[in-house]
Amino acid sequence: MSGRTHTDARPEYGPERTCVGCRERAAKNELLRIVAVEGECVPDHRGTLPGRGAYLHPAVVCLDQAVRRRAFPRAFRVQGAFDTAALRRQVERMTAADSAAT
Ligand SMILES: [Zn+2]
Repeated sequence: MSGRTHTDARPEYGPERTCVGCRERAAKNELLRIVAVEGECVPDHRGTLPGRGAYLHPAVVCLDQAVRRRAFPRAFRVQGAFDTAALRRQVERMTAADSAAT
């Protein structure tokens, strides 16, 4: 009631999401938002695509774990297999660009 008890509000951090691959929490802007478009996992770089999103580290290991534990159908609430080939290529390109920059 004093208005000063909001110690759990952390305005210095953005919203957190859980990676569907390694299940670790990370800042939303560190994760790649994935949406399902016609049975395919599509990275939503601008965060503008409609529908349920899954959050994933832009890392092949996390993508592999997500595929292995069928995290995408669960996240999208849609049964079936999702094509991750194009997504994998993009993640590989992102991680390659990352290591080239360092
Ligand atoms: Zn991860």
